[in-house]
Amino acid sequence: MLAPGATIGILGGGQLARMLALAGARLGLKAHVFSPVADDPAFDVCAARTQADFNDEAALAEFAEAVDVVTYEFENVPARTAHVLEAHRPVRPNPRALALTQDRLIEKQFVQSLGIATADFVAVDNAGALARAVAQLGRNSILKTRRLGYDGKGQTQLRDGGDLAVAFRTLGGAPCILESVVPFEKEVSVVAARGGLHGEFRAYDVSENLHEQHILAMTIAPAEIADETATQAIDIARRLAEAADYVGVIAVEMFVVRDGDRETLVVNEIAPRVHNSGHWTLDGALTSQFEQHMRAVAGWPLGVARRHGRRVEMRNLIGDDVNTWPELAREDGACLHLYGKKETRAGRKMGHVTRVFND
Ligand code: AMP
Repeated sequence: MLAPGATIGILGGGQLARMLALAGARLGLKAHVFSPVADDPAFDVCAARTQADFNDEAALAEFAEAVDVVTYEFENVPARTAHVLEAHRPVRPNPRALALTQDRLIEKQFVQSLGIATADFVAVDNAGALARAVAQLGRNSILKTRRLGYDGKGQTQLRDGGDLAVAFRTLGGAPCILESVVPFEKEVSVVAARGGLHGEFRAYDVSENLHEQHILAMTIAPAEIADETATQAIDIARRLAEAADYVGVIAVEMFVVRDGDRETLVVNEIAPRVHNSGHWTLDGALTSQFEQHMRAVAGWPLGVARRHGRRVEMRNLIGDDVNTWPELAREDGACLHLYGKKETRAGRKMGHVTRVFND
């Protein structure tokens, strides 16, 4: 158990690292942020910084010497970076968990190996393989790059009569998977934490996520799903975390599919980090996901994940939405979070606002 005053090294310097650093500071834990991007939002609020490339082994070694434990705010940290750091300091969650979630094919195979449902999928390495995959799954499918996709980037829905070779080229000819479209009723996620000491596990309420143009627009907690479905969703997250020997906050995105009176769950994606659909916990839960992650990686007991209020709503401020900040700052009960990004761009997450409802 690291004592207050210890330093948590965070790879990546975006808003997630910023909110991790702020949450750690409340517990007396220092954050040392490592990012290649000079004006990243976390650099404004951390105790120490390294601006260097993730492949700069000398900078990584120096960073490792300066911190007590290493964690990350995004999953696309090169595997080699995590391994170099692991030789010096504990890396939490472990690099194997990171590798599992960096590749959609390996991720889906891992999920299915635990008897948990995913969309049907086929690996696609070239245009010929895509034609064979379509023969198997049909046209109602989405082609996704195996690596480096986010917010709908690196994926394309196949169209009836569309040229398959063109679809494959659209994604840069990178290794892909073809995935059946899941006829979901809702998209939900489980944000949960597994502690390092005795594998203790705590989940927040399952939340419902609404996307606009593939980007998360709003999260509502708790999701309006059957209690039994919520219990199953949390159990899925627990099994995934245990199987990956995970330490820290994990987020599991799932589709809820209606089958008559029954709801079934299909796992879409695992994020080995704090997650946008858990931002509501900053104002809407006893322990935020950011504090929870810092507790877990520092070997502390996990905090209570209980929700405040009857219902919590989190809206992202994307692109120009951020210009509404003066009204939001005036609004009674609106909890405003701005990430301090220098440049506003369309589709860029600039901040979020949370509202806790009691009636
Ligand atoms: P992803 O990058 O895999 O999280 O996908 C982004 C969004 O695309 C999801 O949140 C869904 O809205 C949609 N999507 C992705 N995969 C599927 C699927 N197999 N079936 C239906 N919708 C999907």
